[in-house]
Amino acid sequence: MRYVSTRGRAPVADFTEVLLAGLAGDGGLYVPESWPQFVDADWRALRGLPYAEMAARVMRPFVGDTIPFAVLQRLCGEAYGGFGHPAVAPMIQLDSNLWTMELFHGPTLAFKDMAMQLLGRLFDHVLGEQDRRVTIVGATSGDTGSAAIEACAGRERVDIVILHPHGRTSEVQRRQMTTVMAPNVSNLAVEGTFDDCQDLVKAMFSDAAFRGEMKLSAVNSINWARVAAQIPYYVAAALALGAPDREVAFAVPTGNFGNVLAAWAARRMGLPVKRLVIGSNRNNILSRFLTANDMSMLPVEPSLSPSMDIQVSSNFERLLFELLEHDGAATASVMARFRAEGKMPVPEAAWRRAAGLFRAFTLDDAGTLAEIRRLHAASGYLADPHTAIGIAAARACADPVVPMIAMATAHPAKFPDAMEMATGIRPGLPARLADLYDREEKYTVVPADLAAIEAKVRAFAHRNAA
Ligand SMILES: *Cc1c(COP(=O)(O)O)cnc(C)c1O
Repeated sequence: MRYVSTRGRAPVADFTEVLLAGLAGDGGLYVPESWPQFVDADWRALRGLPYAEMAARVMRPFVGDTIPFAVLQRLCGEAYGGFGHPAVAPMIQLDSNLWTMELFHGPTLAFKDMAMQLLGRLFDHVLGEQDRRVTIVGATSGDTGSAAIEACAGRERVDIVILHPHGRTSEVQRRQMTTVMAPNVSNLAVEGTFDDCQDLVKAMFSDAAFRGEMKLSAVNSINWARVAAQIPYYVAAALALGAPDREVAFAVPTGNFGNVLAAWAARRMGLPVKRLVIGSNRNNILSRFLTANDMSMLPVEPSLSPSMDIQVSSNFERLLFELLEHDGAATASVMARFRAEGKMPVPEAAWRRAAGLFRAFTLDDAGTLAEIRRLHAASGYLADPHTAIGIAAARACADPVVPMIAMATAHPAKFPDAMEMATGIRPGLPARLADLYDREEKYTVVPADLAAIEAKVRAFAHRNAA
C-alpha cells in the first residue's frame, strides 16, 4: 500500500513512514493511493471473529508489508485486551431500528482510545525496528491528551509531553492525565489558555534545531494510522446487523471529521453503508457545508460537548481530495483559498457528491440536554452529551428499512455535570477508575513561554534517553 499527499507534492510513502510523519511534507494529509476492496466473501469471513483479530484483518491491506501480519495481530491483541468489555465495542439496541455502539470502554473512557491504544504500540514497534526514539509533544483541552498519554505510558521508544491549560480542564480530564506515573510521561500545566498551549506546540515544531534535537513527533488526529484504526469498528457493527447482505447507516458526533471519515473509508472498501449522518453542536461548519455548500469559519463557541467545539474539521481535507477525484493541485488551491478567505470554495459537482451520501444535524445545548433526558426516560440509557447529539441525529435521519447505528464516543461519567442537569443522575466512574479522585497527581506548572517550556522538554527527554 502506497500513500500520497492530498496536496500532491510530497513523495509517495509507505505505512510506517506515514505513521511517523503525521502531516505530509507539502502540508497535506496522507491518503491511500488506491482503496483496498473487500468482496462479500471477505466480509463474511470476518463474521464472529474476536474484535482484535477482525481489526488486524481489516487493517492488513493498509499496513501492507511494512509490519508482519503476526506482529499486527499481536499489537491489536495487546491494544484491545486492555478494554473494559470483552466485546471491546459492544452494541446496545435503543429502539426498533436504532442501535448505539459504545466506543468508550478503553482506559480514558472516550473513543480516541480505539485508535490511540494501537497507535502507541505501532510507534514503539516501528521505532524499535529502526533503533530510534521520539519525543511526542501535544496540546490538549481534555480528551486527546489523556488518550495519547495512556497510549504512550511505559512504551520504550517514546517520551510524551502534554501541555494543558492550567486550571482550565475538567477535574476528570486533568486527573486522567496527571495520575499516570510512567517515567516517560510529562504533564506541563501552562499558565494560559488552550490556544496558548497549541501555539507553543506549533512554535516547538517550527524551531528546526529543537525539533531535530528532540526528534519531535505528534499523534494528532490528522495521522492516517488513527483513521485506519477506526475502520474496524464500523465493520464490526455492520456485520453484526447483517452486512454484507444488508445495508446499514451510521450516525457520528463529529468534530475533526476523523471518526466519520473512517466510516466513509469502510464504505469505500465495499461495506454496504447507505447513509452517513453527522451530528454537530452549535459549532456546525460541517452541517452548513452539507446543507448549503457553506464551509465558512466562525469563532468557536463553548458547548456541553467540548470535543466537538471546532472551527475547522482538519480531516475533511481527505474527503475533499476524494470529492475532487484525487486532484492534489485542485485540493491545494481550495485549501489555500480557505485559509486566506475563511470560506472553502468547493466546486458544485464535488459538493453534490458529498450531499448525496452525508446528512447533517445540529443540536444546541438545550436540545442536547433534552435528548439526554428523553433517551433516559424512554430506554434507561445514559448517553453523554456528544453521544446524545449522535443519537438525535440518527433519529432525525432514520430510514425505516435500514438499521442505524449511532456511535457512542464518551462514557457519561466524563460529563457528570451535564448528566446531572439533564437527568438528576450523576453517573459513577467504572470500577477500574473508581479511585481516580484519590490517586496521586504529578504535573509541573510553567509560564506560557517557549524558552521555559523547551527547557523542560529537553531536560525530561534527555533524562529518559540516558
Ligand atoms: C474527539 C471526539 C469527538 C469528535 O471526533 P472527530 O474524529 O474529531 O470527529 C466526538 N466525541 C468525543 C467524546 C470525542 O472525544
